Amino acid sequence: MHILEFQEMMRRIYLQRDLERGMKGTYDWLVDEIGELGEALESGQKDAAGKEFADVLAWLASLANTVGTDLETAAIEKYNNKCPRCGCCPCRCKP
Ligand SMILES: [Zn+2]
Repeated sequence: MHILEFQEMMRRIYLQRDLERGMKGTYDWLVDEIGELGEALESGQKDAAGKEFADVLAWLASLANTVGTDLETAAIEKYNNKCPRCGCCPCRCKP
């Protein structure tokens, strides 16, 4: 499944609810899910972390849908097989 297909799947499942909640409310949910991902990672529970990664991806796609952003195009345009800062693969930026 491509990013575009995942985003389209989220659109089919949740677009109406996402539009009713709006961009700000959906963004707030994404932030909450990132917090839950951090907690799952700190707990060391790999299964829980996997579910939280899925939630973060789903809410990111929902957020993009509320503002009409094509995630796949945006990601490829910025990260086209190289670091956007140094232009290298692998990245050679100083830490
Ligand atoms: Zn770099």
